Amino acid sequence: MEKRIGIYPGTFDPITNGHLDIIQRGLKLFDLLYVVVPNNIQKNTLFTVEERISLLKEVLKDYDNIIVTSTDKLTVDFAEEVGAFAMLRGLRMVSDFEYELQLSAINKEIKKDIETIFIMSSHDLSFLSSSSVKELAKFNGDISKFVPNVVAKALLKKIKK
Ligand code: ADP
Repeated sequence: MEKRIGIYPGTFDPITNGHLDIIQRGLKLFDLLYVVVPNNIQKNTLFTVEERISLLKEVLKDYDNIIVTSTDKLTVDFAEEVGAFAMLRGLRMVSDFEYELQLSAINKEIKKDIETIFIMSSHDLSFLSSSSVKELAKFNGDISKFVPNVVAKALLKKIKK
């Protein structure tokens, strides 16, 4: 049978337990999942692309069906190149919906064969975002519940600088 390949694109600045939840649940749908960071997007990130990739690799190192990488291509082009049939995205609140709907509509317009598959966040993680974790870390809040250990360490180090 053909391998079911998917991609999970995101900024991951940094990866949180919310992303991890989507990845773990998303893996039920795919034989191979690319977690991919676009490096052509002008976003004000705390971590560089290399740092974000290295944290993702560390956190996901035990999964042999996940490949972590970055790309300078358009996400849908990357998906096509690796033979993915779908892109995975997470949905938290209603506020994610408008943005995600627009994004998936544009992507569909560019490549009609590639689907966007949404997974609703687990309700106890629906408030969690990379930005809120960064805010919390800045004010010395306890972030250990929201991000994997290595990420918490990297965040504290970064913020002290
Ligand atoms: P982007 O800049 O592409 O939105 P993010 O790293 O912020 O990158 O998010 C990547 C994907 O993960 C998005 O679909 C986002 O909605 C989803 N996501 C982020 N945090 C959570 C969470 N706590 N629960 C479910 N999905 C989430």
